[in-house]
Amino acid sequence: LGMPDVPLKLAERRKSRQIQVGTVAVGGDAPVSVQSMTTTRTSDIGATLQQIAELTASGCQIVRVACPTQDDADALPVIARKSQIPVIADIHFQPKYVFAAIEAGCAAVRVNPGNIKQFDDKVKEIAKAARDHGTPIRIGVNAGSLDRRLLQKYGKATPEALAESALWEASLFEEHDFRDIKISVKHNDPVVMVNAYRLLAEKCDYPLHLGVTEAGPAFQGTIKSAVAFGALLSEGIGDTIRVSLSAPPVEEIKVGNQILESLGLRPRRLEIVSCPSCGRAQVDVYKLAEEVTAGLDGMEVPLRVAVMGCVVNGPGEAREADLGVASGNGKGQIFVKGEVIKTVPESKIVETLIEEALKIAEQMEKDGVPS
Ligand code: SF4
Repeated sequence: LGMPDVPLKLAERRKSRQIQVGTVAVGGDAPVSVQSMTTTRTSDIGATLQQIAELTASGCQIVRVACPTQDDADALPVIARKSQIPVIADIHFQPKYVFAAIEAGCAAVRVNPGNIKQFDDKVKEIAKAARDHGTPIRIGVNAGSLDRRLLQKYGKATPEALAESALWEASLFEEHDFRDIKISVKHNDPVVMVNAYRLLAEKCDYPLHLGVTEAGPAFQGTIKSAVAFGALLSEGIGDTIRVSLSAPPVEEIKVGNQILESLGLRPRRLEIVSCPSCGRAQVDVYKLAEEVTAGLDGMEVPLRVAVMGCVVNGPGEAREADLGVASGNGKGQIFVKGEVIKTVPESKIVETLIEEALKIAEQMEKDGVPS
C-alpha cells in the first residue's frame, strides 16, 4: 500500500556495562529483568519469604526488601539465603544497614544518597565492603528525596537535577575505583522520568533500573509505567524494571512482564486477541474474553487466542491466531491454525476453547516451543 519498508524492531539496545545481581545479570546483553518489592515487615522472616515465593512464582526475577530497623537488618541473612531469587536490601537514612546488608549476603544494596546524611563521607567504606563481598550498589535517586544542594540549584526535581544527583554519587564511588553500580532516577511524572533516563543514558554506561515512582493505584500506575518504559525501552534504554503500584506486588510483576512481552523483549506467553465489541456483536464479548482469560490463566506457552464478537473481523483474526472463535447466530465457529474445526452453540464456546487450548499447549510443549 505504498508504506515505507520500516523494519519492525526497537532501537538497538544501549550498550551498558553488565553487573551481576546474585544469579541475575543486569545490563550488557542480559535480558531486561523484572523486579518488585515486598510489602511485609522484613523482620517477619516467614511472611517475607512467603511473599518472595509468591513473587517468584509470578515471574519476579529480583526482589527488594526494605530495611528501616535493626530487626529488619537482622533478618537479612536468612532472607538472602532462603530466597529463590536475588534479594536487594533497600536502605535509606542509616549507613550502618548498608554494611549489615552487604555482610548478610544480599545480592545488592540500594542506597538513596539524598536520604543518607554524610553519605559522601561513607562512600569509601561502602565501596570497600561492597567490593570485598562482590555486592553491587544501586544508586537510587528519588524526586521526593533529592539532594538539597541540587534542589537549590535547579529549584525542583528536574531531569537534569535527577541525573546530576545520580552521576555525582557514582563519581564518588568511581574515585574509589568502584563501578559495580546500577542507577535509577525515579519521578512520578513519566515525562520528567523519561528525560532523566535519556540524560543518564547519554552520560554513563551504567545499567539503568527503570521506575516511575509513586505511580499511583493499579490503573493509573500501570499506564504511567507502560508509557514511560515503552518510550525508553523502544529507544534501547533500560536494563531492569520495576512497576510501582499501590497494589499487591504480584500485580507489579504481571504488569512488568506484560510490558516486556508487548515490546517483544521477552517471549510472549498467552495472548488474548479480543475485539472491543460494537453494535454488530452477536455475543457478550467482554464476558467471553474474561471467561477465556480466566480459564487459560497461568498457561506458559505462547498461545494466541482470538475472541471475536461477530463475523466482520472475526474469521480473519481467528485465522491468524493459534486458536479462535468468531461468533454469530448464537453459535461460535472454532478455528485452530486457520481452519474451522467445529461450530458449537454459544453456551459451549468457552469450554471448547479451553479444551482446544490445552491440546495445543500440550503439543507445543512436546514440540519444545520456548515458553
Ligand atoms: Fe464489532 Fe465484530 Fe469487530 Fe467485534 S469483531 S468489534 S463485534 S465488528
